[in-house]
Amino acid sequence: MYRKTFYLLLITALVHVVSCTTTPVTGTRSFILIPFSQEVQLGQEAYRDFLSKEKANINKDPKINEMVSRITKNLAMKSDMPNLKWQTTVINSKEANAFCLPGGKMVVYTGILPLCKNEAGLAAVIGHEMAHAVARHGAQRMTQQLVLNLGLSVASVSFQNSKYRDLIIASLGAGSTVGILLPYSRDNEYEADEIGTIYMARAGYDPNEAVNLWKRFASMGGSQQPEFLSTHPYSQNRAQRLSSLMPRAMAEYKKSPKYGLGSNL
Ligand SMILES: [Zn+2]
Repeated sequence: MYRKTFYLLLITALVHVVSCTTTPVTGTRSFILIPFSQEVQLGQEAYRDFLSKEKANINKDPKINEMVSRITKNLAMKSDMPNLKWQTTVINSKEANAFCLPGGKMVVYTGILPLCKNEAGLAAVIGHEMAHAVARHGAQRMTQQLVLNLGLSVASVSFQNSKYRDLIIASLGAGSTVGILLPYSRDNEYEADEIGTIYMARAGYDPNEAVNLWKRFASMGGSQQPEFLSTHPYSQNRAQRLSSLMPRAMAEYKKSPKYGLGSNL
């Protein structure tokens, strides 16, 4: 009996050692059981599925699309995964929301644009979302689900597995599209703030606008509260953590202050 427990612990420890990955920018280590290729494939499948359902709502405004793809390209080039097939689709919606699926597939809802106010504000949102993919937060959350649902093996995580389909989509980061509210942990959010702010600064956008953007979000109360805040809760701690990032972000920004706040939205 003890022998069995010992071997089980040993195997768990070994799996932990081989599955630990280090997150760029923050250097934190995380436990991930999902292979990167599987995570990217799931993200692509969920994205294709989402876009086919939202086909009629895809925004075609050339000015907005040009700005969104410029920001995506600028941030991706300065990210730690420049070779991912990064893509952002703009969806016409009153919802003030945005999300990123593993593999770099992002969605920005037009409802969030007035809150972003300018290109740098939008770069803060896209940078933050991009950071969730680079830090592999979706795969971390799926690993937690694997541990919680002991019957679910790594191989069974697929869209053919209809029983877990919505849970997989929510774990990937697009829970709002299937009606499951699954916010990232506070640590994941801090980490995405940190990585995203550094990326926007490296790309030449004024990182102070990230702080201003979150203040604008937070100042909207009650029924006005943007959807984005239900999955990205804003707190005093978060504001302080963001402000404390500024010296490091400004040092990056000063190397190439290319866009400042950029164009207005
Ligand atoms: Zn987030």
